[in-house]
Amino acid sequence: GECVRACPKGIIGLISSTTKILHWNQYTECLAPCQQKCPAQIDIRKYVQYIKEGRFKDALLTIKEHNPLPSVCGRVCPEPCALACRRQISDEPVAINYLKRFVADQEYLSGTRYEVPIAADTGKQVAVIGGGPSGLSAAYYLRRLGHAVTIFEKMPKLGGMLRYGIPEYRLPKKILDWEIQGILEMGVQAKTGVEFGESLKLELLKTEGFDAVYVAVGAWDDQRLTIEGHDAEGVISGIKYLERFHTDEEVDKGEYIIVIGGGNTAIDAARTAQRMGAKEVSIVYRRSRNEMPANPAEIIAAEEEGINLRYLYGPQRVVIENGRVAGLEVIKMELGEPDPSGRRRPVPVEGSEQILKCDVIIEAVGQKPNMEFMKNDSHLKSIPLTRWNTIEASEDSLQTDIPYVFTGGDCFTGPALAIDAIAAGRFAARSIHYYLSEGKIPPIEERARDFIPESLLSELQGIKSKTRVHEPVVPLEERLGNFKEVEGTIAEEDALYESSRCLNCGIYCYNKDIVEDENILPVLQSEGDALAS
Ligand SMILES: Cc1cc2nc3c(=O)[nH]c(=O)nc-3n(C[C@H](O)[C@H](O)[C@H](O)COP(=O)(O)OP(=O)(O)OC[C@H]3O[C@@H](n4cnc5c(N)ncnc54)[C@H](O)[C@@H]3O)c2cc1C
Ligand code: SF4
Ligand code: SF4
Repeated sequence: GECVRACPKGIIGLISSTTKILHWNQYTECLAPCQQKCPAQIDIRKYVQYIKEGRFKDALLTIKEHNPLPSVCGRVCPEPCALACRRQISDEPVAINYLKRFVADQEYLSGTRYEVPIAADTGKQVAVIGGGPSGLSAAYYLRRLGHAVTIFEKMPKLGGMLRYGIPEYRLPKKILDWEIQGILEMGVQAKTGVEFGESLKLELLKTEGFDAVYVAVGAWDDQRLTIEGHDAEGVISGIKYLERFHTDEEVDKGEYIIVIGGGNTAIDAARTAQRMGAKEVSIVYRRSRNEMPANPAEIIAAEEEGINLRYLYGPQRVVIENGRVAGLEVIKMELGEPDPSGRRRPVPVEGSEQILKCDVIIEAVGQKPNMEFMKNDSHLKSIPLTRWNTIEASEDSLQTDIPYVFTGGDCFTGPALAIDAIAAGRFAARSIHYYLSEGKIPPIEERARDFIPESLLSELQGIKSKTRVHEPVVPLEERLGNFKEVEGTIAEEDALYESSRCLNCGIYCYNKDIVEDENILPVLQSEGDALAS
């Protein structure tokens, strides 16, 4: 019951795996600030305490109650949870994601999967449309809840944007494949190369005996600029550019590359172009660095790798010579009043136009879902779309106007983070489970959506400062010309040390008695200094 969930020390362990999967944060619970901020609601303090005790397997199984892709997220999650970590009041947030990656990689390196409990078969069948992180997460939790699941994916392989968007140097395919294989080994079926809306329609799924459908098709359509010359040879979309590295399509390499945009796609395209041997790679972004939506760590890495970041420049027109791109005319911008998104609106400075030389332009100015398949399906077309071309569904259940059809991930929210899509997959699994077993979806009482105000402390007493660990990184001179993974996994001794920085927070309380290990601290501090120099 409530005491099991609330116990900050995790002493009482009677709660069933099914109950944990179906559970969502409530205002009435004793939640550490970090757990309130992780979209998947991972019990961070619990897994970090397990690491502190050397119980790495228990730590990983705790994470998997909320996230079936811990090695992936350990590499790509921008760690929104750390923004709320109470430790930063004293010095720096706990390296929550390095710790996650450490325990997940322990399992990967051992080559043996830890078994997770799977409920008895329910006799119900669920179709998942789209094998990205949201579809994979829904499939994983539905399977753990005892349902039979089949994923239908239009691309040749599962993984969605994790495979076809995020480059190898950030997320090696062998890591993604390992985690996907683990989901399939639980009995999840996958049919790839099947496009929903073409050969496969909703009616057919019903005829084949599927009781519910989860639509998680992502946001794969690039927003395109409408400037003069935007359709010239040599202008390519960011998603297409990245996707071509995983298909047989030829990639337009170029020597002088300009990437337009400020999100993850723009940075990934630029860092990829740099690795492909371009002479000069620039990013043109119309606002300042502070407004850039890309992960801050990626922006820093791009700067370190020599990418020329041109802030406050707006694209005006593509310069064309002999039928293909020869330059980009840009205009200087300054920041004006905030727009509806809260970011300051860029305003052009008259007479400041200039031409930047280039032979390839990569447009990465945003994505939106492609919903053509909905319009082609006589049943699905009754589900309304929003003005952002996302699917309309209930925020409280992810159920659409067709009661047995649910949706989540980027095609519901618009482009977001992998962990948002993963969280939506588990939330949809909860709704589908109740829909199939009880015929209705109970609301979550006191569902925690914002911070519990009492959990936001402004000072900590009795905590000695302790340096945060640094992850190992490949030196700059070894990064270019290859796609070797840049960031590494921390060592066991660093994981043990870092976990000891966690204050094991409750809602108002925290552990003031964390043991100081005077022997390990100076060693790590000098390593940190060496890395920083
Ligand atoms: C370049 C890039 C870099 C990113 N970097 C990060 C990062 O560092 N950190 C982070 O947290 N997030 C990052 N993201 C965002 C993250 O990848 C997405 O938010 C996440 O993948 C969304 O998951 P999803 O399952 O909703 O959709 P997707 O991952 O897009 O998966 C949707 C799946 O549905 C399939 N599909 C589409 N239509 C059909 C159909 N009709 N029939 C069958 N299958 C279909 C697609 O082929 C795809 O496999 C990045 C995104 C991009 C593009
Ligand atoms: S998945 Fe992301 S937000 Fe959640 S605990 Fe891990 S790093 Fe934090
Ligand atoms: S100190 Fe530990 S429990 Fe507290 S917020 Fe940070 S990671 Fe979470």
